[in-house]
Amino acid sequence: MTTRLPTLFLSHGSPMHALDAGGAGPAWEALAASLPRPRAILIASAHWETTLPMLTGGERLETLHDFSGFPPELYRVRYDVPGAPELAARAGQLLKDAGYTPAINACRGIDHGAWVPLKWMYPARDVPVVQLSVQTALGAAHHLGLGEALAPLRDEGVLVIGSGHVTHNLRDWAAHRGDRQPADYVVQFPAWLNERLLRRERDELLAWQERAPSAARAHPTDEHFLPIFIALGAAGADAAPTRFYTAIDAGVLSMDAYRFD
Ligand code: ZN
Repeated sequence: MTTRLPTLFLSHGSPMHALDAGGAGPAWEALAASLPRPRAILIASAHWETTLPMLTGGERLETLHDFSGFPPELYRVRYDVPGAPELAARAGQLLKDAGYTPAINACRGIDHGAWVPLKWMYPARDVPVVQLSVQTALGAAHHLGLGEALAPLRDEGVLVIGSGHVTHNLRDWAAHRGDRQPADYVVQFPAWLNERLLRRERDELLAWQERAPSAARAHPTDEHFLPIFIALGAAGADAAPTRFYTAIDAGVLSMDAYRFD
């Protein structure tokens, strides 16, 4: 019998978090150690944007260094992992049954939105991974629906993860990193999110762009926030959220991480 796994939403940090994740590294590691070992991971990353849902279908996912201007040692980090073509097919079928038009990409590797946290969580690189893309133009309800369609996987030994950021303003990151005092919105937006999650206020959450304080400043573009809706959808309406890590990186990036049980 397989135990039902929680779903996760992780703020994955910058690519440098692969080498030094501050407190997030040990938090990701401890969280993974506390879970039953998953048969496979299905992870939706903000760094794969497509117009329709896509799943990686390769037998093996090669490491994508999908960033530029970082130190050479980062390009030597590899997180090549087994893929899970049968899980990609199963997830694709679940999405089709729910009315989506998914496709499988058998060539794509694993991007840093996925491998930065997974390197800490499963350093042996022996848990098969399928990535799911985000459809930035389609908004929160679309991603909640994707998650809902994939919920049965939690009973099949699959760990469903959304990987993005609770706040993600790279212009502020470039201008203010290292500031001692975090900007107000980097405190307010995560607090709003946490409260709405704890109260299970889905309609408020779905309307985050209108309702959340400084939503446009916290997310000038939506792709890093949308993966949380996949985690929420797969967790189900009654799921209990736990913020298992909270921190602000470089005064600007909220690193908050959640599990939904
Ligand atoms: Zn990112």
